[in-house]
Amino acid sequence: MKESRNLLEVNNLKKYFPIRGGLLNRKIDDFRAVDDVSFNLPEGKTFGLVGESGSGKTTIGKCVLRLLEPSAGQIIYNGQDITHIKANELRRLRSDIQMIYQSPAASLNGRMTVGQIIGEPLWIHEKLNGNRARDRVLELMNVVGLKEEHYYRYPHEFSGGQQQRIGIARALAVQPKLLVLDEPTSALDVSVQAQILNLLQDLQDQFNLTYLFISHDLGVVRYMCDEVALLYLGKIVEVAETETIFEQPKHPYTQALISAIPEPDPDAMSEEIIIQGDLSHTFPKNGCPFAPRCHAAKLDKCETVVPPLLQVDQQHLVSCHLHQGEPA
Ligand code: SF4
Repeated sequence: MKESRNLLEVNNLKKYFPIRGGLLNRKIDDFRAVDDVSFNLPEGKTFGLVGESGSGKTTIGKCVLRLLEPSAGQIIYNGQDITHIKANELRRLRSDIQMIYQSPAASLNGRMTVGQIIGEPLWIHEKLNGNRARDRVLELMNVVGLKEEHYYRYPHEFSGGQQQRIGIARALAVQPKLLVLDEPTSALDVSVQAQILNLLQDLQDQFNLTYLFISHDLGVVRYMCDEVALLYLGKIVEVAETETIFEQPKHPYTQALISAIPEPDPDAMSEEIIIQGDLSHTFPKNGCPFAPRCHAAKLDKCETVVPPLLQVDQQHLVSCHLHQGEPA
């Protein structure tokens, strides 16, 4: 089978925010929102970034979109280094890479009709107006399952699922190649989540879209993603193909998250591993960031040596002293 080329490559990405203090409000430290993250996203595939809130997953998405300036590292999109491209080059990038937000209501302008919302990017990027713009908008509405009669309605007249369809149609208007999906269904009722996920899969097949899928919901990630990275305090702690992550999780954090997924078959239920405490940025500076909460922590070096991300199996990387491997 032919391998897909990488549409996106993220190499050693860092995003630090200054922590200020003292009388003069000087910088006293860095808040490491994203700390040395690398992954590849092949064209037409879905790569999942999973973690608790505060793990850095949305910050990575914003760096890829260049809504945030990376502190270090490299972002290669479609063969071009876009890490520090200038404002005038960002315009084309904005068409190629689009974002779908968690809260569709907040991302849509309530004073614009559906037709105006979806048509606006056509005007901005292609100067398309009049009947040609209207035809394209109606085509896009049809693609995402909206009806012609919705054209003159306002976002507040729609359910959350339909609002998300409007957001998706707007994103598709500029014919993007890569969509950053930031918790696209977490604000929706369970009954409509599956409809939106199915729509996203259909659109991926139809337009050969590539997805960077950000979520804290492992069930949704398993359904949507080809490959998954688990993030903890800005670092990838485990990355592998989706089925490998769910069938053979190796990092204690991954094991705990997977053990907490409700199991429909009572006979197949395994014991849930409880993660102690909250996600805290206070951890041994030279040790494993997960050590204060790790149910498996028992090695002296857990507190004194940062575990490197090692390749423990083919396409399976883990950052934990319990596992041996080769440098990734
Ligand atoms: Fe737990 Fe130690 Fe592995 Fe960190 S390195 S996850 S503390 S066992």
